Amino acid sequence: MPKESKSLYSAKLLINEIPVTVKSKRIKNMYLRVRAPSGDVEVSAPKQCSLNEIESWLFERHDWLIKQRKRIAMQPVQPELQFTSGEEHRLWGKNHILDVVVKTRGTSVRFMDDQLQLVSLPHYNAVQRKQILDRWYREQITREVKALLDIWQPRMKAYSSSFGIRVMKTRWGSCNIRSKKIWLNLELVKKPVECLEYVVVHELTHLFERYHNARFYALMDEFLPDWRERKKLTNQFT
Ligand SMILES: [Zn+2]
Repeated sequence: MPKESKSLYSAKLLINEIPVTVKSKRIKNMYLRVRAPSGDVEVSAPKQCSLNEIESWLFERHDWLIKQRKRIAMQPVQPELQFTSGEEHRLWGKNHILDVVVKTRGTSVRFMDDQLQLVSLPHYNAVQRKQILDRWYREQITREVKALLDIWQPRMKAYSSSFGIRVMKTRWGSCNIRSKKIWLNLELVKKPVECLEYVVVHELTHLFERYHNARFYALMDEFLPDWRERKKLTNQFT
């Protein structure tokens, strides 16, 4: 094994297309962290470790890494949002300026002239304004899911019994193969619509095959040949 220089260094590695920053430190053990919200991966390694060793150590933790990055990608993009005019909010993969209009009665959201107009009551705070927008997001995604099911169920000859939208921390969707009910993550309303389509087809495919095995992926290839790119887009940080 080549002798490492004693000076501390910083290096970049690619682990299955995930960029990783390696920092050599005077420590005993390796430490791995995935930063939120960027998804940046950082490894602190003892100074005597070679890059090869670090690389194989990372490959062993590849699945964990993917899981952590997915979890972070699912978290709301900007948790510090105040829901005031001028802020950018996301819809179907694009940012739109929020225009808050205060009225003494009635709340609503309207998408017009590339802006999101949110009608709020005067005393509403950020949490309550978020609720108004989330309710509207739920309507948008529900409409889109219905349209996608109308296309994909007859095409695939796979029919769900019903679907629901909810906030999920670790998954984009799920399918109960016994009841045939499909659940979709509300956050998908902020991703390009191709991502929602990918998740819908994925969950419908579970009606044929419960497990993520070769048969499952062969069916996905047949139904949605570009599903891998869509999957990548869904888990991308933007
Ligand atoms: Zn699945």
